Amino acid sequence: MKPTISQLVSSGKVLVSDGAWGTFLQAKGLNPGECPELWNIEHTDDVLDIAQNYIKAGADMIETNSFGGNRFKLAKFGLEDRVSEINQKAAKISRQAAGPDKYVIASIGPTGKILMMGDVTEDELYEVFKEQSIALYKGGADGLVIETMSDLDEARIAIKAARENTPCEVICTMTFERTLTGEYRSMMGVSPSEMVDILIEAGAHIIGANCGNGVEGMIMITKEIRAVNNTIPILIHANAGMPKYEDGETIFPESPEMMAGFIPKLIAAGANIIGGCCGTTPGHIEKISAIVKK
Ligand SMILES: [Zn+2]
Repeated sequence: MKPTISQLVSSGKVLVSDGAWGTFLQAKGLNPGECPELWNIEHTDDVLDIAQNYIKAGADMIETNSFGGNRFKLAKFGLEDRVSEINQKAAKISRQAAGPDKYVIASIGPTGKILMMGDVTEDELYEVFKEQSIALYKGGADGLVIETMSDLDEARIAIKAARENTPCEVICTMTFERTLTGEYRSMMGVSPSEMVDILIEAGAHIIGANCGNGVEGMIMITKEIRAVNNTIPILIHANAGMPKYEDGETIFPESPEMMAGFIPKLIAAGANIIGGCCGTTPGHIEKISAIVKK
């Protein structure tokens, strides 16, 4: 049996993850208002091509096209009865690209419902994450990456649902923005140091941060996590900088070379698994991989 990602990390290896899926799908023609996850069924070859591109670029693990694959998000497209089919297909596509040796870490994003506002109960959230986790596992995922979280309670419930209903390795990353005073906080006010014990107690094997302001800020976030816990594996998926809007187009300012320049500092700060989020491309992953493997 192949080792778990955590086992590889604890043996001292730094691993490479993949880059963006959403912005890649848009580049392939996904229209605003279209359901990205339905592309698993209707544009399977395009989704497979994204997965294969990241494997070719040197990623040790790839995600899946399932970020918005929970029942609440799919219901907006009238697809709530196809949660299992769509998520299983997402995992199968990435498994096909990854082969048996590389890892598939299947994406689970927020539900869009806010516990604090009374949009949803904890039990309802649990059931929704359970359903998605099981489908991704059945499709062949090695791990589940619960990502772009801003609410600690939602993150904790998602981790529990994933751990209690699948044998998958569970990763959880939250998204932090830089405040005016130079600290990092999630949209719901959570700091990187505040999340550490709660995510680990809920059952996360690997924690970290994704999306946000770009790779440089991730160095501070990583240091803040490491100050609380010096053994938990840390995964970082940074955006290619802050998106800018020019002539109706979204531009991500950090080139592969710019991003790669920060990787040695990110590793020194304590990151164990490094990939990208919005705006990163196979070109970014290729550069990151070259540095990590040196
Ligand atoms: Zn992102």
